[in-house]
Amino acid sequence: MTVLNGTTAGDLAGRMADQILDGPDGYSGVVGDAEWAAEIRRLVDQRGATLLAHNYQLPEIQDVADHVGDSLALSRIAADAPEDTIVFCGVHFMAETAKILSPDKTVLIPDQRAGCSLADSITVDELRAWKDEYPDAVVVSYVNTTAAVKALTDICCTSANAVDVVASIPADREVLFCPDQFLGAHVRRVTGRTNMHIWAGECHVHAGINGDELADQARSHPDAELFVHPECGCATSALYLAGEGAVPEERVKILSTGGMLDAARETGASQVLVATEIGMLHQLRRAAPEVDFLAVNDRASCRYMKMITPAALLRCLVEGADEVHVDPETARLGRASVQRMIAIGQPGGGE
Ligand code: SF4
Repeated sequence: MTVLNGTTAGDLAGRMADQILDGPDGYSGVVGDAEWAAEIRRLVDQRGATLLAHNYQLPEIQDVADHVGDSLALSRIAADAPEDTIVFCGVHFMAETAKILSPDKTVLIPDQRAGCSLADSITVDELRAWKDEYPDAVVVSYVNTTAAVKALTDICCTSANAVDVVASIPADREVLFCPDQFLGAHVRRVTGRTNMHIWAGECHVHAGINGDELADQARSHPDAELFVHPECGCATSALYLAGEGAVPEERVKILSTGGMLDAARETGASQVLVATEIGMLHQLRRAAPEVDFLAVNDRASCRYMKMITPAALLRCLVEGADEVHVDPETARLGRASVQRMIAIGQPGGGE
């Protein structure tokens, strides 16, 4: 068993065993309490690491991290951090993005099985075949893609800058937009672009937040603002509700996760309905404690994000695993597509 500073994983698990949760072998009793948090911080310091947590992580993971944010902001923090080791609490493509922006650093993820249904909705072979159909098209990929897909991409985008990225492409060039159909529809609506082909991918969590639920919630909370992530199946419905006058247009905000935090600090509303993964509520409530934030769908929880448990994070820091690897050529090509996006501006946002 690995021993760090006289603490064995088994000892720690035993001391924290007042609530038994599923976890990696040897860590099944670990819960995210104060003792756990102190041990996590000690191990982070011992490794000389930076601990990053995505906005959709469990509250206790967010609270113990050095930085909390959206996927791209975290990757840029990882690249700028003086530490040589990055512990990325998020899903695998996010840790890969951190790795391609910081190829010389060690990037760890607490559970490498934490995937993403949206990133999985387009494979490298599928993208290659699509490009063969439209050889002159410019490929725009949302950052929720694998490193291998980024390597075949011309320009990456986030939900905050997808409109600007597509608008930067000459009007006579065709665009292949992947993998998220809801974000793609939002971009096509805003830009009015007709020569834009949209891949029919989706995130199972965001697609499950549907327009009927949004309409019901909007009717039940007539004074609430609506914060809607453009990956949501309900993004179109939110605009429709506004267009029909069911919800005043100024109360509907289509926002990236970073944009939601800015809007939370500025809102004059006392109640806000939030249409995205429910982990986001924790940061929103911290940003604006006086506002009542309600989930449009309180079952919108990403099981991949929630694979990063207190036990998994402890194991990661004790064992130095799981390490994220991206082959150098894939990283070089993927980095170029991310850097083209950053050059266009407004690189914040994303999931
Ligand atoms: S919420 Fe959806 S897009 Fe985000 S990590 Fe989970 S599956 Fe992927």
